[in-house]
Amino acid sequence: MNTELQSIIRLQELDKQISTLQQRIAALPHHLREIEKQLSDIIEAHATVKQRMASNQQQRRKFDGDIQALEQKISKYNNQLLDVKTNEEYRAFLTEIEFNKNEIRKIEDRILDLMMAAEADEKELKETEAESKRQQQEVAREKQQAESETRGKQLEVDALLATREQVIGSLTDTMLDLYTRIAKLRNGTVVAEVRDQICTVCHVMLRPQTFNEVMRSQGIIQCDNCGRILFWVPPADPAAPPTPLSGEPVRG
Ligand SMILES: [Zn+2]
Repeated sequence: MNTELQSIIRLQELDKQISTLQQRIAALPHHLREIEKQLSDIIEAHATVKQRMASNQQQRRKFDGDIQALEQKISKYNNQLLDVKTNEEYRAFLTEIEFNKNEIRKIEDRILDLMMAAEADEKELKETEAESKRQQQEVAREKQQAESETRGKQLEVDALLATREQVIGSLTDTMLDLYTRIAKLRNGTVVAEVRDQICTVCHVMLRPQTFNEVMRSQGIIQCDNCGRILFWVPPADPAAPPTPLSGEPVRG
C-alpha cells in the first residue's frame, strides 16, 4: 500500500481513538452529577421528615395544653357541684363534666395517633440518615474514581496526540489539508474501505476505473460520491503460504 495512504489510515485510527477517549472523559462528570442529585434528594427527604417531626411535637404540646385546660374546667365544675341547690343544677353540672371528659378522650386519641406517626417518622429519619451517609461515601468514591480515570485517559490522549504529531510529520501539507478538510465535512470519518467495488461508508458503487486505481493502491483516490479517501484490503488467499515474521528464518 502507498505509504502516504498508510499514514492517512493511521491518522484516522488515532483521531478515532482520541475522540472516543475525549468523549469518555466528558461523560464522567455527567454520572457524578447524577449521583450528586440522588444525594441531594435524600438530604431533602431527611429534612422533610425532621420538619414533620417538629410539627408533630408542637401539635402534641398544644393538645397537652388543651387537656390541662379541660381538666381545670372539670375540677372547677366539681367544686361548684358542692354548692348546688337544685337537682336540675346538679344534673347540668354532671352533663358538663361528662362532655369535657369526652373531649379529653377525643384529644387523647389524637395524641395516640400522633405518637404512632412520630414512631414511624423516627424510623424514617434513621433510614434517611443512613442512606445519606452511604450516598455521601458513594459520591466521594465516584469522585475519586472519576478523577483518576480522567487522569489515566488524559495520559492516553496525550500519548496518542504525540503519535499523531509524528504521523502528521510524515505527511505533506497538501495531504494534511485534504485530511483536515474531509474530516470537517464528513464528521471525522476521512477514510473509507472499498469492498465489492462499493464505498463502505456512503454505499455508492465506484466506477470500474476508480476501483482499479484503488486496488492498485498507487495513490490517494477519493470516493466520487462522498469524497472520502478510499483504500482496499486484498482478500487473504488461503492457498498462499503464511508471510514469515521479520527476523524469523525462512524454512524450506
Ligand atoms: Zn463514499
